[in-house]
Amino acid sequence: MTDCAASLQQARGGAVALGARPWDIYPALAEGEPRCALERVLAGVSSVTVDLYGAGRRTRKGVVFRTAEGIGIIEASEQRPVAIDEAEHVKLLHQATHDVLTGLQNRRRFSERLEEVLAAGEGGRERSALLQIDLDDFKSVNDTLGHSTGDTLLQLAAERIRDALRDGGTAYRYAGDEFAVIQYGKEQPFAAEQLAQALVDAFKPPFIINGIPLFVGASIGVAFGPQHGTESEELMKAADIALYAAKREGRGCARIFNRSMMLLLEQRENLRRNLRVALEREELHLVYQPLIQAPGSIVGFEALLRWNHPEIGPIPPSVFIPMAEADGLMEEIGRWVLEEACREAMTWPQEFNVAVNLSPAQFLGGSLTDTVAQVIDTSGIRADRIEFEITETVLLEQTVDNLDTLNTLNVLGIRISLDDFGTHYSSLAYLKNFPFDSVKIDQYFIRDLLSEKKSQTIVRSIMGLAHGLGMSVTAEGVETAGQALWLVGEGCDCLQGNFLGEAMVADSIPDFIARSSMSLHGMNEQDRF
Ligand code: C2E
Ligand code: MG
Ligand code: MG
Repeated sequence: MTDCAASLQQARGGAVALGARPWDIYPALAEGEPRCALERVLAGVSSVTVDLYGAGRRTRKGVVFRTAEGIGIIEASEQRPVAIDEAEHVKLLHQATHDVLTGLQNRRRFSERLEEVLAAGEGGRERSALLQIDLDDFKSVNDTLGHSTGDTLLQLAAERIRDALRDGGTAYRYAGDEFAVIQYGKEQPFAAEQLAQALVDAFKPPFIINGIPLFVGASIGVAFGPQHGTESEELMKAADIALYAAKREGRGCARIFNRSMMLLLEQRENLRRNLRVALEREELHLVYQPLIQAPGSIVGFEALLRWNHPEIGPIPPSVFIPMAEADGLMEEIGRWVLEEACREAMTWPQEFNVAVNLSPAQFLGGSLTDTVAQVIDTSGIRADRIEFEITETVLLEQTVDNLDTLNTLNVLGIRISLDDFGTHYSSLAYLKNFPFDSVKIDQYFIRDLLSEKKSQTIVRSIMGLAHGLGMSVTAEGVETAGQALWLVGEGCDCLQGNFLGEAMVADSIPDFIARSSMSLHGMNEQDRF
């Protein structure tokens, strides 16, 4: 039996059921005179008139409602209750309470149900659980493979959620790729923990859409009422904070809300505020990691941003750069990085390049090319000494505009490399659409290069592909001599990693340059790595 048929039957059985009230279908009837009149109908008074003007969906015949006696409709023209056939009622009820795409209950039903279970548990020991589910990487699938694939993915995701539920609660879709489950009358926290794990597991196998396997995991945040919130908003916030923790701790996992998450969030908020003034207070600085060409000469240095917080100490860029992006600070910080890196590079031998990372946020303002031209002017650096590193995320967003920007930079003589290749979508279309000068293979593939045949095959293929397209290849995160030798043997053009040289402060660069030219003089070709 469908949900609707079940609720219909329940309605016939006696008490006025949930979900079938006229104002659910016609929100304009929720207040004032129409609402009073309808309350009288629902209370069993059979003959009432309701002014339906302003009731919203006037294309319909009237207002459907359900009473203890059965189902009725108030005709707009006749302004009196008449009978309605069951199929019509089921359809209208379904439309009003369900998400059209997935067939799950909608946000409105979600809010109502959450309030209901919280009210029912008030004062008692009955706990309700709210599970907030968010798909990992949904946006990227939608952006790269199109909306119809995105829609199919949501439908399949809804199916997996429904299957995982069995009798464990009801699922709702309340926005984009956000789903929720409410559990009530179960033994908690066990039921919610079990369900959360079942849901995480359900998202492990790939979704096959148009023959393409897509790995899209689910992250889940769990909160319990009344313990973590007696009001629905409070409980939703708690589940959201837990979801955020799940996302941060590697995604594809579930986390239950606890107070220390709140503390962490507050710390992050503090950090965020501090970041706003970090630039003025000169807490940001750059370190430089050498880029080494086989068989062992320096080609340049990559500038890497550091934040040395006066109280907390060093904060890694993976933490503060996303914050700066989210807060709109990255344009300003990015400009500073570029100025600083170019100024520093002017103190090096002229044949050394400087690589600078660009974040997607720097492409949004539309002034990137102007900024770059100004910095080149004021620093006096040759444009062909600058290399910009971008990740595929830059190409995911606003593809046409960003491609234009990249082309303009290219025309200025700046080289562009594709950073962290292999970890994002590695869409070959990017390689076709934009003439990158080089591709940087992510350290993920370099790490186990010597022990994993698969990594070797992948690295070899990326190199073949890049070389075939006239691009050079840099391997990132080279940590051992064995990795370096293997890569050079396979024709990798450039290496970067702690084995070749860790990131260093600007003051250490002259020394590093002097040492590496000395060691080159005293070595044979094969000893250099
Ligand atoms: P990335 O551009 O891929 O930079 C390489 C990262 O790998 C650096 O981490 C570097 O310190 C690290 N690394 C290098 N060699 C090794 C190695 O042998 N072993 C290991 N385990 N790690 C190695 P870092 O400095 O933490 O930077 C992380 C990411 O933050 C960078 O990845 C880049 O995407 C971003 N980032 C750093 N500075 C900037 C910046 O100025 N602007 C922007 N937009 N992003 C930046
Ligand atoms: Mg980089
Ligand atoms: Mg990288």
